[in-house]
Amino acid sequence: MNKRLFLLALPLLLLGTVTALVAHLAVSRAEVASDRMAAERLTLYRQTILGVYEKYRYLPYMIARDPRAIMALDDPSETEVANLFLEEMATNSGASQLFVMDLKGDTVAASNWRSELSLIGRNYGFRPYFKSAIRGEEGQYFAVGMTTGLPGLFLARPTPVVGEPRGVAVVKVDTKVLERTWREGGETVYVTDENGVVFLSSVAAWRYRTTEQLAPAVLEEISAARQYTGNTLRSLAEETSGDPRLLRIDGVTYRHNAAFVGLLGWKLHYLVPEKEVSGAQTPVWISALGLALLYAVAVLFLRGRALRRASAILRQESAELKALNTRLTDEVEERRRVESELIRAQEGLARSSRLAAVGQMSAAVAHELNQPLAALRMFVAGTRKFLERDNLAAARENLDEIDGLQDRMANLTQELKRFARPAESRIERVDLRECVWDSVKIARPRFDETGVNLSVSCPHTPLALDTARYRVEQVLLNLLKNAADAANQAHLETGQGEVSLTAVLDGDRVQVSIADNGSGISKEDRARIFDPFFTTKLSSGGLGLGLSISMRIAEDLGGTLDVMESEMGGAEFVLSLPAAPDRICPVEQIESDEKVPAE
Ligand code: ADP
Repeated sequence: MNKRLFLLALPLLLLGTVTALVAHLAVSRAEVASDRMAAERLTLYRQTILGVYEKYRYLPYMIARDPRAIMALDDPSETEVANLFLEEMATNSGASQLFVMDLKGDTVAASNWRSELSLIGRNYGFRPYFKSAIRGEEGQYFAVGMTTGLPGLFLARPTPVVGEPRGVAVVKVDTKVLERTWREGGETVYVTDENGVVFLSSVAAWRYRTTEQLAPAVLEEISAARQYTGNTLRSLAEETSGDPRLLRIDGVTYRHNAAFVGLLGWKLHYLVPEKEVSGAQTPVWISALGLALLYAVAVLFLRGRALRRASAILRQESAELKALNTRLTDEVEERRRVESELIRAQEGLARSSRLAAVGQMSAAVAHELNQPLAALRMFVAGTRKFLERDNLAAARENLDEIDGLQDRMANLTQELKRFARPAESRIERVDLRECVWDSVKIARPRFDETGVNLSVSCPHTPLALDTARYRVEQVLLNLLKNAADAANQAHLETGQGEVSLTAVLDGDRVQVSIADNGSGISKEDRARIFDPFFTTKLSSGGLGLGLSISMRIAEDLGGTLDVMESEMGGAEFVLSLPAAPDRICPVEQIESDEKVPAE
């Protein structure tokens, strides 16, 4: 999952890195372009300033040489002529003011002589341009007008131009026009004097602010010359760290370029808002953002498509599953239907087999009862005859026969009852040896009657079973009786009738085998001997129910009953039952020999 996220984010990381590089490049290029433009502008504005200077530079010289201007120095009556002359000169040249001062610095004639703010009579002897000119030099000075309060460039010359000066001719050039040009061009430009004080600026609020810390002596000098007429010289730029080209003024950062004008130590400064330069990277970032958004949209679109596909597959699969489920439900339903049909068929079969059994049984019972009944009828008729003839002995004999027949019929009903209602079937822990001994005890008279020999072999340890004691005994008794019958035949033929009973524990089974030396059972009969009413002893009163009852009991108790050929020559029946899991029998261990009833 993390790896997937990383792979998805990788293009964005790369895009970010590339964008940062390109943005940096764009800013660098913008800086270079901005600096180049600044250099061009600086050259242009420098030439403009010098142009103004050059334009007016010789005007004071001309005035100093003109007698109309300087006559007023010697003759106050000529003042008006001088004033008119200066006024005309100012109008024609575009100079702000023209005036003439005497040796003390008092103004004797001025172009604005008509104005309320006329300079006439005012003393400017403290101004450096006056001091320079009176020394015979060319006076150049920038200052705020003492009288007008308007800043301007003062250019002064001594008069006469050759020889001992008697006065000074001055022209004041209005520099506002320069500022206006810059402002109109939408550019941020200012000029500082040799002390770093801003005296021209496209931003009015920056005027008379300093770009450098001024020494007290310098401040003194400025104050003495009343250069900036009491304006407080606040610092212009705030402290900035990092790029020395950056200047922070009134909360805005500018890219700064500067050049000397070549006049009075003036320096021209050109500023470009830093935002404009760094803004060069904005389109780069916007493009990158656009690309990132495009990428996100593409990723979302692809993911959406994949999800839609997955959900379509899921829908298809679930539809298939549903179909499968329906098919399965149908099949289960079909199976149930078939099953119930089967059960119904089985029930029908059971019913018909029960009916068949009842029919079979009724036939057998009818047959069994008809014979003794017919005999009874015969004996009763005979007895009647014997009584009529007073032959009591014969009548008694007949009555004995009748008794015998009655016994036989009683026996039949007994057997039928047993078939219908098997012995008590309570399951308990039983020692099989005890069942053996009890059934041997009951069967013993039969062996005694016939003279057949019965040998019993049981282990010394108990044979523990969880079973129904009396039902097991019923089986054993039946097998013993059948074996006695079979061995009796041999006894009658050869004088040697033998029956042997052996009980053993074989793995998790307990087995009792009862073998005889009788005539055995043919293969065909073996398949039928467990069917009800199969008997070969019709003449001797066999009902053919014993083995079928025994088989049913053995199966009910989770065991088996098998028949095989005996080593003794006759048949061998083996009853096998599951041994108790713990093999423990709570009853007392008794030596088998002690319990076996004497033969
Ligand atoms: P019954 O003994 O009343 O005939 P059974 O169901 O007990 O009924 O026996 C069915 C038949 O099985 C007998 O009639 C007999 O033919 C045959 N049979 C049973 N036990 C033996 C045996 N030990 N030897 C030979 N035949 C046997």
